[in-house]
Amino acid sequence: MYDVKSLKAEEFISNEEILETLDYAEKNKHNRQLIEEILEKAAPKKTGRGVECAGLSHREASVLLACDVPELNEKMYSLAREIKEAFYGNRIVMFAPLYLSNYCVNQCVYCPYHMQNKEIPRKKLTQDEVRNEVVALQDMGHKRLAIESGEDPVNNPIEYILECINTIYSIKHKNGAIRRVNVNIAATTVENYKKLHDAGIGTYILFQETYHKESYEKLHPAGPKHNYAYHTEAMDRAMEGGIDDVGLGVLFGLDMYKYEFAGLLMHAEHLEVVHGVGPHTISVPRVKRASDIDPDVFDNSIDDDTFAKIIACIRIAVPYTGMIISTRENEECRDRVIGLGISQISGGSRTSVGGYAGYSPEERPHDTEQFDVSDQRSLDEVVRWLIDLGYIPSFCTACYREGRTGDRFMSLCKVGQIQNCCHPNALMTLQEFLEDYASPETKVAGEKLIAQEINKVTNPKVLERAVQNLKDIKNGERDFRF
Ligand code: SAM
Repeated sequence: MYDVKSLKAEEFISNEEILETLDYAEKNKHNRQLIEEILEKAAPKKTGRGVECAGLSHREASVLLACDVPELNEKMYSLAREIKEAFYGNRIVMFAPLYLSNYCVNQCVYCPYHMQNKEIPRKKLTQDEVRNEVVALQDMGHKRLAIESGEDPVNNPIEYILECINTIYSIKHKNGAIRRVNVNIAATTVENYKKLHDAGIGTYILFQETYHKESYEKLHPAGPKHNYAYHTEAMDRAMEGGIDDVGLGVLFGLDMYKYEFAGLLMHAEHLEVVHGVGPHTISVPRVKRASDIDPDVFDNSIDDDTFAKIIACIRIAVPYTGMIISTRENEECRDRVIGLGISQISGGSRTSVGGYAGYSPEERPHDTEQFDVSDQRSLDEVVRWLIDLGYIPSFCTACYREGRTGDRFMSLCKVGQIQNCCHPNALMTLQEFLEDYASPETKVAGEKLIAQEINKVTNPKVLERAVQNLKDIKNGERDFRF
């Protein structure tokens, strides 16, 4: 029944295989020798091409997740840190969500946009409003957005989404520009994925919510999203439509996390085997309070320790994937998990339709919010916080603009190459942020960090060019990249 190569959801995410995996993991959770062997397999190895990691199968990774031997867990955390450092260094890519419309015909029981929620006003941005939102986001310093929308073929048809993408890319305000638009909209057809690809999107993101088919159907009782197979097979259609970079995710809290974890890794393995490239990103949202939504009614919520363990195990199992954490999580939690494998975070986010333009940093419209934002700091504050922790906040969008998507990105994601590419790109885009948007304190801290970090560029020619570019940015030029 289980067939990683199959294009049928119930075969590449086989319930029997997940149950057997969980059973195997439970039986081996104290098997020290096996766990040590799995950790050894996953450890970074020096090769002629740089440093490479083997990754883990869903079975192996599930054993790590099940293990409750403190000493072995500590080894997992160290390994996750080591892998994160090897492939993503201390760079953290910044982005913000942009909510276009909360019209929705689905009935997802955890989502405030569900059709029967009469508490929230329904709103869809006009192109002028999109413009205002984008100007507000550019004025914060953002270069990368994730657009979000409910599913409604009448109010938010694909043409509307495409028009918004076009508007977003067209806006050049002061030194601002949105250089990458990622898209988080409902599962759609190959034809529509082709249109999104032609519109120049970055990553197509779609959360599975839960891999457990029975729960999935109960949690999505009506509407197009009710169809488990159509939803689960969406990434195959997206790739068929030409989108190389796809982002997976599970909404933790809906079903049992060990089941979701195995399903998520099986999905990643499936994409790798069938399309030759795994997920560009994996997101790890947890269910939050929202209008008409009480997260306590879902009995599978996970505590912060389990959440950290899941992140570490994903990092070890899928070493090259980007990992995203949103403002659903508070500062303390984000601080804890960034080092374990997160490579992208949102900052200064508003999860309401029209939440950016016309509001001061302290004011937040709550009426159309998708979920409570736990980290309410401004982008400047988040950037400053990252710098103080020794991370480089990066506004880089170079890979996708240079055509380094899909497996071309994955092969770049090897030590040696990224030090001479992603690292200077991160520093140059941070310098742009410091020049155009940062507070004086952030600017001082950021310049000090750039001065230290630039020396990590090992190729002398790249170093020389990067130093010159940094000077040029200070003199008003913009948008350099390797
Ligand atoms: N409508 C699109 C779809 O159906 O996939 C995607 C857009 S939706 C705005 C983005 C994601 O928000 C959903 O996939 C879901 O995982 C997440 N979400 C929904 N309700 C949430 C809640 N109460 N707390 C946290 N995340 C939530």
